[in-house]
Amino acid sequence: MQKADDNPMDRANAAPRCTAHSKRTGEPCRVPAVTGWNVCHFHGAGGGHPAGPSHPTWKHGMRSREWVESRKLVNELARKARETEALIG
Ligand SMILES: [Zn+2]
Repeated sequence: MQKADDNPMDRANAAPRCTAHSKRTGEPCRVPAVTGWNVCHFHGAGGGHPAGPSHPTWKHGMRSREWVESRKLVNELARKARETEALIG
């Protein structure tokens, strides 16, 4: 026997909502968000390309996160070497 307050729509209404706001009215979107996103499909969920060489704006990889991080590390080591060299004359 189902209770009167056991409405299955309660779960549907409790779904996470799109966090975007209307450009025109400023009101919240309120559409259910796509699973794994904070926004609805209209507000950009599910879009975009995966990062990496298959990305349309990929040129040569020298600006990829891995390369930028390793360049920072090399520059840091070179800076420390110069500092050490300055200390010992
Ligand atoms: Zn939305």
